[in-house]
Parts: sequence; structure tokens; C-alpha cells
Amino acid sequence: MTEKPEIKSMNLKELTEFVVRLGEKPFRAKQLYQWMHQKLSASFDEMTNLSVSFRETLKQTSTYTVLKRADVQISNVDGTRKYLFLLEDGNVVESVLMRYKYGNSVCISSQAGCRMGCRFCASAIGGLKRNLLPSEMLEQIYRIQTDTKERVSNVVVMGTGEPLDNYDNLLKFIELITNEEGLNISQRNLTVSTCGIVPNIRKLAEEKLQITLALSLHASSQKKRKELMPVAAKYDIYEVIGACQYYFEQTGRRITFEYSLAEGINDTEEDAKALAELVSDINCHVNLIPINPVKEREFVGSSQAAAKAFRQKLEVNRINATIRRETGRDIDAACGQLRRKYIETVS
Ligand code: SAH
Repeated sequence: MTEKPEIKSMNLKELTEFVVRLGEKPFRAKQLYQWMHQKLSASFDEMTNLSVSFRETLKQTSTYTVLKRADVQISNVDGTRKYLFLLEDGNVVESVLMRYKYGNSVCISSQAGCRMGCRFCASAIGGLKRNLLPSEMLEQIYRIQTDTKERVSNVVVMGTGEPLDNYDNLLKFIELITNEEGLNISQRNLTVSTCGIVPNIRKLAEEKLQITLALSLHASSQKKRKELMPVAAKYDIYEVIGACQYYFEQTGRRITFEYSLAEGINDTEEDAKALAELVSDINCHVNLIPINPVKEREFVGSSQAAAKAFRQKLEVNRINATIRRETGRDIDAACGQLRRKYIETVS
């Protein structure tokens, strides 16, 4: 049996072809598209300007992806909400809503699990289960916006998974989330975070999008980075920096470097000085965040004082840096931990 086409991952052109094949007029595709991507309908039954018979045909001939909420945790401190969503096949993914002065930002997952194996990361523990479909990335945002009834203005692909290890689906997701007939989120309000898959950074640069590239650096030398991030054995730190430079040249978009501070591992002033040198030729911004302790991992986050000293050292060396506000500390908002907890209790 062939699988039914999964219509929420289709762009308007593909959807039009599909609808026409079912014997409907092309303009029905636009209506259907808007129900899915603008009104965020959870079922065909809501789509009242489509005929009942067309809705029946759709139910029988297509797959309509809607994520189910398995859990939500709400922070009393800052309104951060952490969602756990259940996929059709029983996998779970987590997504986080963060409220900022400038608007609501959602952090989404791009894979169920991850195969990159970063030593400090909770999502690496169970390995990769599978890639997420474009619709499954979109749905995390759609369900959160529907739940809160507040517009999502920013999206960061920084949850579980390595987005550049799921390249084609990521690109389709970007196309759909920025589409005018959908949520119409501006490319400039979209950030994709990668551990540094060099060929795909270069490929992404050539798409010439206006999205922000965040590179998880976490160390200022190849030796140290390799200890923290196995991916560095494949693509070394200088290749990664070169690819970031290329991304900037192709897109004009300033690079964000993510640097998680682990006490006694990568947080000394010498580390800061080496980091400043490493990125000195790049138009960039450094985001510092004390590592979130993960119960299966031995790392300890740096103190606020160490983080401040690190930032000052960068700034003395003319590198812009911010210590990221930690949101949702009172819930399991730290990278991948709600998902881990769920997996542990059901298995
Ligand atoms: N795979 C992508 C995106 C997912 S991880 C990437 O590597 O960038 C999102 C960010 O959180 C990355 O910078 C990652 O290195 C960081 N991270 C993972 N676990 C962390 C932890 N325990 N504490 C702090 N940052 C963590």
C-alpha cells in the first residue's frame, strides 16, 4: 500500500496539483492551504468553505498531521512554556515558548533525538530516532499559537536535533513558515542553530536566505571542541569558521556563535581570549549561556561571575557578547530534559 500524501508538508504549487488530481478547482488549494497554515485548523471539519464531499475525499486520500500535546509545563517566573508533543508513531518532541519584550519566540525541534553526540547535551543520550517532517516542525508552532492565542513572531530551530542533518525538510519548513498565505514569519526572525556540518552550512549560504545562522562553538581550540563535540572530528574548527565566514559573505547576515560555559572546561579568561582571536575576522555576536546541568552528564554551569568575566574579556577584544537570560529555570526547560523524563517513565 502506498502512503497517503502528507498535505501539510506541501507548498501551494504541490497542493494545487494534488487538489486538481482529486477533480477540484485549483483555487480550492489556496483555501485549504489557508485553513492549514493560517487558521491552523486541527481537522478538516473546521474547513467550512470546502464542500462536505471534498472534506470526505481529503480524509480518505491524504494524511493530515496534527501534533497531540503530551505535556506542558508553565514557568511561574517568566511565563516560559515547555510543550511535549506526541507524534503519530509514538515519538515525542519538545518545544519551548519564550516571551520577550519584542514578541513571542518558539524554539522547535528538528529531529526526534539526535545523532551528533555532544557530551553535555540531553538530546544525544538516546540517539537519533528519526527526522521530523516539515509539517511536524510547523505543527509545534501552530499548536503553541493556538494554545496561547498569541502571535508567534520569532522561531529558533534550536530544540532537539541537528537541523542541517535534516536539510531538505528544514528548507521546506522555512519555505512554508515564511509564506504569505501561512504565518508569514519574516526570514529575519528565523534562526537555525547547527553544531557545524560544514558542507550543509555552505549549501545553506548559497540559498541566500535572510535567516540567522547560529553556530554552536563551545570551545576556542580544535582539541577542546573535539572533546565536547564529536562532530568536530569530521569538520574541524577552522573549516567551520571558514564556512561561517562564507555564510556571511553570501547572505550579509551576521553570525551568532553559541558558547555554553562549563565550569573549569571552557570558561577561563584564556579561553575567552582565544575565542576572540578565533572569530576576530567575522562579523558576529557571541551568545554565552552557563551550561544547563543534565542529570546524566557531569558538567557544571559556570557562575555568573565567571560568565561576566568571560564576556568582559571578549568585549575588551572587541567581540560583541551577551549572557543569555536563562528562561524557565523552574521547569524542565533545559535542553531536552522534559523529553528525557517522558521517555524514562514510559520505557
Ligand atoms: N543541533 C543544533 C541545535 C540543537 S542544540 C546545535 O547543535 O546547534 C541548541 C543549543 O543548545 C546548541 O548550542 C547546543 O550546543 C546547546 N546545548 C545543548 N545542551 C546544552 C546544555 N546542557 N547546556 C547548555 N547548552 C546546551
